[in-house]
Amino acid sequence: IEGISRVIAVASCKGGVGKSTVAVNLACALAAEGKKVGLADMDIYGPSAPIMLGISGQPKPSLDGLIPPLEAHGLSVVSMGFFLDDAAPVIWRGPMAMSATKQFLRGVRWGKLDYLVVDLPPGTGDVVLSLSQTAYVAGSIVVTSPQQVAVADTRRAVAMYEKLNIPVLGLIENMSYFVCPSCRHESDIFGRGGGERLAEELGIAFLGSIPISEPLRRGGDTGVPIMLADPESAAAAAFVAAAERTAAQVSIQSFKTPVIPLTPVN
Ligand code: ADP
Repeated sequence: IEGISRVIAVASCKGGVGKSTVAVNLACALAAEGKKVGLADMDIYGPSAPIMLGISGQPKPSLDGLIPPLEAHGLSVVSMGFFLDDAAPVIWRGPMAMSATKQFLRGVRWGKLDYLVVDLPPGTGDVVLSLSQTAYVAGSIVVTSPQQVAVADTRRAVAMYEKLNIPVLGLIENMSYFVCPSCRHESDIFGRGGGERLAEELGIAFLGSIPISEPLRRGGDTGVPIMLADPESAAAAAFVAAAERTAAQVSIQSFKTPVIPLTPVN
């Protein structure tokens, strides 16, 4: 896509593992490194960027037909949530989901971006297929939580990305551990380490562990991501580390595969 250097997809095999939380905070962490970052919230079933970034409104296409993204916390943002009525149900047919995905990539005036972070719906489906047909994707990140670590699901997702010519940048384990705010004791509530073992088993990079954190959850609910609300926190530090590993993996993958072919439409 003209002007966009790298597209990074954030995916998960299941819902509720914190995929959107990771996408938003990773985008903020990359922006904190001085990069120009956009966020395309394509989770058609549960768009969360408006709440997580505290933005609302419906950008109107300008004369050239392109939609201007909204700006929030230094990010350029477009979300399915801007265009959906909260109360009205949407039954997404495959072709609708696919044309909405294309619109979000090619119908938005993104301008110059170092990274466009794409928050995908959970699982494997039309949106990711359409993404691979529309944009050169530098790579995808798979988010999991320790109790949701399912080798078979993740292996299937990795195989799907390979088939769609989307390199897998690595795995992030969210809700890995809890640090007691009073005594700093770390508890592995859901059992830590499954994500790292899974990454090793699948031969993909492990990009980091994000703690369970009440301020992180609150940041998501109040529209100020933890990366901005408390950049010194353990959770923010974990996102910075994950963003650095992600950027390194993007470079490694683009060295391995300098030209990523689009998935043919048939
Ligand atoms: P998904 O996109 O996978 O459905 P979300 O990012 O929407 O998941 O997260 C689901 C809920 O869990 C949200 O309320 C979010 O604030 C919370 N959450 C996600 N990650 C964490 C975490 N590490 N610590 C505390 N709460 C979290």
